[in-house]
Amino acid sequence: LHSKLPEVGTTIFTVMSALAAEVGAVNLGQGFPDFDCDPALVEAVYQAMRAGHNQYPPMPGVPALRSAVASKIEALHGRKYSADSEITITAGATQAILTAILACVRPGDEVIVLEPCYDSYAPNIALAGGTVVRVPLTPGSFRPDFDKIAAALSPRTRALLINSPHNPSATVWSAQDMLTLQELLAPTDVLLISDEVYEHMVFDGAEHQSAARFAGLAARAFIVSSFGKTFHVTGWKVGTVAAPAALTAEFRKVHQFNVFTVNTPMQHGLASYLQNPAPYLQLPAFYQAKRDLFRAGLAGSRLRLLPCAGSYFQCVDISAVSDLSEADFCQWLTREIGVAAIPLSAFYGDGFDQRVVRFCFAKKDETLRLALQRLRKL
Ligand code: PMP
Ligand code: GLN
Repeated sequence: LHSKLPEVGTTIFTVMSALAAEVGAVNLGQGFPDFDCDPALVEAVYQAMRAGHNQYPPMPGVPALRSAVASKIEALHGRKYSADSEITITAGATQAILTAILACVRPGDEVIVLEPCYDSYAPNIALAGGTVVRVPLTPGSFRPDFDKIAAALSPRTRALLINSPHNPSATVWSAQDMLTLQELLAPTDVLLISDEVYEHMVFDGAEHQSAARFAGLAARAFIVSSFGKTFHVTGWKVGTVAAPAALTAEFRKVHQFNVFTVNTPMQHGLASYLQNPAPYLQLPAFYQAKRDLFRAGLAGSRLRLLPCAGSYFQCVDISAVSDLSEADFCQWLTREIGVAAIPLSAFYGDGFDQRVVRFCFAKKDETLRLALQRLRKL
């Protein structure tokens, strides 16, 4: 068979989770909570199933959930999206991003990604026949480099993919960053795919600057989110896309022949659970406490902590601890020390190795303490 993705193997997240399970390591690799979601959310889904919400929902999603999402965006970011024509419920952010790319990228189009970036972006662009244009984030700080983004724009640029809060670097774009981007894109017709799955994990009193807050960005943006991250249910695979009606119409043409619809009872359960904003409003404090516990535990070690402004990831520089490559270090750390991590090189097209690895702190405090006990030996 002539592979469409010859360079793609099994994702690093699957590989490291399998290794962690095999050797019994604490798994701080793949990003998912090791604690359960709110029982009230499970109860809401159970009630939906009991009420008979078990057949296909409308193609764009259960209306009550689309309305709840539109209200939430309006309350948090001040922009009104039509639940009918501008919000679509997806099978997680992964399907949302692929569908947005398939809907707008033609063979030969260029799509700019900012490296390091989530591992699905480049293969998604390749599947659409597009050309991946990789622009590095500023080395060290992982801040956007707008001169480099400007230099990468060409008449063939169809879309730009951004992600704040950022996986893996845990940086968060400021309002000024978004304004600068808005100005940069103003003279172009470049579309924006804004991956905002960690929208509710922004720390130290800062606010998430959704593309929805900036008229010039919102007008060209597919804004992607995921209930898996926000409500500790990564296995449910339910996400959302907010986009202006014309973009949503194109998105839905692909969506209807891709998954057609997303599971019904989860959508009803999420719609009723979203009526109470407390769970997502409490999320920054919840994860900030875990970040602080994890950082305090590593403070005296030879792993150098990088800043963590958002997301549920903490990156560390390993150069004082080991001469191994990031990938080999993660293998060694999992097998010999009993803690799994993810090498940042997995987020680069060319496997760039800067001696930094990523830990996920979306774990019970006791899990973090056990990992810290082991990591402090380094
Ligand atoms: N984008 C980023 C940046 C992610 O980290 C993830 C998942 N970890 C996704 C998208 C995919 O989200 P989902 O599980 O909802 O498909
Ligand atoms: N997004 C999660 C991470 O970065 C993992 C999702 C996956 O396994 N594909 O760890």
